Amino acid sequence: MTLAEFSKAISDYPTTPIMPALFVGHGSPMNGLEDNEYSRAWQMLGTQLPRPRAILAISAHWLTEGTAVHVAAKPKTIHDFWGFPKELYDLTYPCPGAPELARATQKLITKTNIETDTEWGIDHGTWIVLHRMYSDANIPVFQMSIDFSKPSNFHYELGKELRPLREHGILVMGSGNIVHNLSRVDFNENAKAFDWALEFDEKSKTLIEAGNHGALAHYEKLGSAAHLAIPTPDHYYPLLYTLGLQQRTDRASFPISGITHGSVSMRAVLLEEIE
Ligand code: ZN
Repeated sequence: MTLAEFSKAISDYPTTPIMPALFVGHGSPMNGLEDNEYSRAWQMLGTQLPRPRAILAISAHWLTEGTAVHVAAKPKTIHDFWGFPKELYDLTYPCPGAPELARATQKLITKTNIETDTEWGIDHGTWIVLHRMYSDANIPVFQMSIDFSKPSNFHYELGKELRPLREHGILVMGSGNIVHNLSRVDFNENAKAFDWALEFDEKSKTLIEAGNHGALAHYEKLGSAAHLAIPTPDHYYPLLYTLGLQQRTDRASFPISGITHGSVSMRAVLLEEIE
């Protein structure tokens, strides 16, 4: 499929100025319910970014063998967490889906075969954030899964293939956490960040600022802090998709930062084209 054919496939989405690309650290599902510094910051991001025509979300919580795009016209809200208050299970995010756009995205990607999926929906990695960013739930959203059988660099390279979406007013949002070690979580309200959590969070910021994506895409070689920060890569891979979307003319910034529960980084990464 050529880019011209892709453009035809998304003809409902004429070209726009380049949309920013985003990675969000989503943290606890409670951020979907609580009014706290992170949920307020997400709300602020929603008012500051150009309003997207549609959103492609790549969430740490949709891991598959092979890559799939969700094509339901009305994706269901998935409450994929256990033991939280009823109010959180009562929340829904009734956004429209974007089946045509999902199929156009499927055609855009040449690196791997993309399946279509009708079973998933919108998981909490996506909706707890979007429920704050765009509370009207009017923007069409579709998710693309993470092929968990593939090595880290695959996800970075696949992110690169999504770049044309930014030219059509589509916000691509990775949602995970750069540092995410649940076995070390400290539930004390005033939990102090572990040294290794701060170290890797800071190191990733420095590498992003330097545009050193190669090092980030091979995080296994970044030392002991990286191993503690990323005991399993599910919450880290969404960052690699966002970094793959970076163009030479983009500036990276960090609209949200902080470590919660000692071992979870809430850092967000925003890529915006410099005027
Ligand atoms: Zn999560």
